[in-house]
Amino acid sequence: MSHSINSFPFTRLSQGHLNLLENCPRKFQHIYFDQLGVPISYEQQERLSWGSHFHLLMQQRELGLPVESLVEGEQQLHQWLSALINAAPEVLNRDTQTFRESEHCRTLNFHGYLLTVVYDLLIGTNSCAQILDWKTFPQPKNRQPLATDWQTRLYLYVLTETSDYLPEQISMTYWFVKSQPRPQSLKFSYSRIQHQKNREDLTELLGQLSCWQQRYQDDPIGFPQIAASTGRCQNCSFAVRCQRTPESVVNNTKGLLANLTELQEVPL
Ligand code: SF4
Repeated sequence: MSHSINSFPFTRLSQGHLNLLENCPRKFQHIYFDQLGVPISYEQQERLSWGSHFHLLMQQRELGLPVESLVEGEQQLHQWLSALINAAPEVLNRDTQTFRESEHCRTLNFHGYLLTVVYDLLIGTNSCAQILDWKTFPQPKNRQPLATDWQTRLYLYVLTETSDYLPEQISMTYWFVKSQPRPQSLKFSYSRIQHQKNREDLTELLGQLSCWQQRYQDDPIGFPQIAASTGRCQNCSFAVRCQRTPESVVNNTKGLLANLTELQEVPL
């Protein structure tokens, strides 16, 4: 039985929180503790609204409700929905022996944090369970980034921990509904070894989060920044705040050089 490592108000975590925390703890702090917003471009907004429209459509269809009014005047949406239904028989086939639920939500208490997942569609039989997820971006050429993304890892982890299925009986499949000429999928199976690794990595990451929260609350000392040498700060909307713009790097370097000069002038 694990003991609690969290005593902070920030407790409910999704895969988005975990990805952000892993990618840059300071960015996590800016967004969730300092409540600083990230500007969203028109294209991102469009993608988000299209994605939520498609998810609503799939949910309505799964509930056996008519979807005609939702696709009216949306020819392309209608085409993509039909293409997905043709390409993914498991989306189509319903039998009474199978558990199916769209927008299926689960929460796991992990060291005092509430890990929360929402499956686009969960299908369960006596022998296996499948998590399905609709993606409205094109299929990536390389599956590795998705394999290590916290969505894949957390979704599989939480289902294993909150059901009677063994890791080997669980899989997760992403459907890329906009892929041409037909929707494509990527399936990830699961194993006891991966489950153990996910548990260890979650324990480490959330242990760090607890330390950083404590430090921030007491001092406050900011969450760690990523190394400037990664080059990722240049495209980050917090580059000015983090003093990671090209100008601030030059100024910092000048400051260091000035300090060095001053040091050299001190008589011995
Ligand atoms: S500028 Fe760099 S260190 Fe600061 S939040 Fe962005 S990615 Fe993180």
